[in-house]
Amino acid sequence: MNEITHRTKTRPIKVGNLTIGGNNEVIIQSMTTTKTHDVDGTVAQIKRLEEAGCQIVRVACPDERAANAIPEIKKRINIPLVVDIHFDYRLALKAIEGGADKIRINPGNIGKREKIEAVVKAAKERGVPIRIGVNAGSLEKRILDKYGYPTADGMVESALYHIKILEDLDFHNIIVSLKASDVNLAIEAYEKAARAFDYPLHLGITESGTLFAGTVKSAAGLGAILSKGIGNTIRISLSADPVEEVKVARELLKAFGLAANAATLISCPTCGRIEIDLISIANEIEEYIAKIKAPIKVAVLGCAVNGPGEAREADIGIAGARGEGLLFRHGEIVRKVPEEKLVEELKKEVDQLAEEYYQK
Ligand code: SF4
Repeated sequence: MNEITHRTKTRPIKVGNLTIGGNNEVIIQSMTTTKTHDVDGTVAQIKRLEEAGCQIVRVACPDERAANAIPEIKKRINIPLVVDIHFDYRLALKAIEGGADKIRINPGNIGKREKIEAVVKAAKERGVPIRIGVNAGSLEKRILDKYGYPTADGMVESALYHIKILEDLDFHNIIVSLKASDVNLAIEAYEKAARAFDYPLHLGITESGTLFAGTVKSAAGLGAILSKGIGNTIRISLSADPVEEVKVARELLKAFGLAANAATLISCPTCGRIEIDLISIANEIEEYIAKIKAPIKVAVLGCAVNGPGEAREADIGIAGARGEGLLFRHGEIVRKVPEEKLVEELKKEVDQLAEEYYQK
């Protein structure tokens, strides 16, 4: 089943104070939607992303104004900053000089050899890694001519072409992404890339769509890739507030046991036996546990008939009943709680469990 376990065998690449690859956790990224030259707006959005659990943030750098804003943005945020550049080597140099922790640029698109060398030299001097971003929609003409249309082999060939340019300059501080909007194509491309090189892989399904459809599509594609032991950092691309991208990424990593310090909610689907307003309680608890940085499983169940037994893996949970509900741990009932106090008591227990975890 998991025939590839690329994740832990990749080179560790330092990005600011974090490391992508090697035996490190899968890092959550997102990208700002503000104009990068609007420093106040961009920093405000990055703070919101940070609070939601974003660990690395990327900003677009389409022009000089954006590049000039990098030092100030960098100064005012706490997470590593990635600067996304297309083609223009001067912007790349400016971004590196301005404090970028990583740049995203395809060396093969920079142009003349001297320009590539200048970028690589600056990146080397500052220990700044380069992410090569292969996109099925913008493969080199030569590769498209060879394969006829975007294929996984073509995408990997493109990645290897850019990698070789950097390796020939003795630069190995590399991360690679192979994004496609077609889920099957993305899965195949990442599988082939994992067999072809040991640089860490940045996962993404590009142009995946709106919050609902994009979440499903990203989860389907990235879930398949993650389950094969591939992927060192992840970005969900949604036509939505980027905070939503971070929430989806966290949830996806939790589903694969890849988010070490996040609480998980287990809630029943509800049925005719339901005794409490479960949906609003589940939403309230989900929001409450989003800030908990401990791997606690919390259950919210609609009734006590099958409830505690169904959620045996939960560290703590409640099962609703008319008038009085149950508080239980690992399937065992701890005590009865009046219905109106059920949520409040559960929150207290969650806080206590988290505190015990933090003190370990
Ligand atoms: Fe139905 Fe109770 Fe199971 Fe929820 S816990 S699905 S209400 S039987």
